[in-house]
Amino acid sequence: MEKKFSEQFSSLHELFKAYRKSERCLAAFNVNDNYDLKAVVEAANEMNTHVMVMTYPPVADLITPQVFAKMVEGMRLNAHNKVFLHLDHSTSVDQCKAAIDAGYDSVMIDGSQQPLEENIKMTKEVVEYAKSANVVVEAEIGKILGRGVEVKSDDDFLASVADVTQLYKEANPDIVAVGIGTAHGFTPQEPKIHFGRLGEIADAIPAPLVLHGGTGIPDKDIQKSISMGMSKINIGTIVHTTYMQEALKRMNEAGENAYPPFIMNEVVPLIKDVVVDRLKAVNFEYELSV
Ligand SMILES: [Zn+2]
Repeated sequence: MEKKFSEQFSSLHELFKAYRKSERCLAAFNVNDNYDLKAVVEAANEMNTHVMVMTYPPVADLITPQVFAKMVEGMRLNAHNKVFLHLDHSTSVDQCKAAIDAGYDSVMIDGSQQPLEENIKMTKEVVEYAKSANVVVEAEIGKILGRGVEVKSDDDFLASVADVTQLYKEANPDIVAVGIGTAHGFTPQEPKIHFGRLGEIADAIPAPLVLHGGTGIPDKDIQKSISMGMSKINIGTIVHTTYMQEALKRMNEAGENAYPPFIMNEVVPLIKDVVVDRLKAVNFEYELSV
């Protein structure tokens, strides 16, 4: 029987190329420590899929890329499929290099807040450095809304086709995050995805595209985006809010008797449940393939 989301590839590069061609998407979850990492690995096992875990820069700063890479290496002992490790939204070329040295599979250099020329320069430097280690590099064009990103009009955040094409040609990143209307975190209104622009970008460059702000996007929009060239989706907020709120509830109940393994024994399965739910939305043809 075909295992569509556990197909073996010689490298993450090859996986992304194949996913873009076959309209599949790698689900990537932001994790913070060994507990939510464990929850993501267990969820991926249950869904029989490869998965990516990502450290946001504050997590990489706190735990260090070296230690996090070792933690993921350890967790892979329990994984049935691939667990890829990615550095998410780093604005620092040096941090990307440190993650590459530490053994990350993939890094994102986010120069989207910089002028295009500077974005291209930063991306180029990381792409050059990543080459010998065979590490995937994600670049960003346009802005992902939320988290204090201020925009005045659509043109302010929407990735322009010309900019995307220039960045892709000059810096040659492996995968590209594009601002098309999604937002980080929970949003008061459903984010309005500019599918027209997504289509134009997907026609302009062959690179697998990355959809950010996965927590707040309705399933049908996630699936439509995947059919249009999104080959990686980032999901963060739903993981850490479930983690923190459920842990807080139990710590309040336990009071001064709160004991980490007892609390986390109850919280990990709840994080796992939300990850399984998102994996079902992203690997939406999973019923046909298992
Ligand atoms: Zn993002």
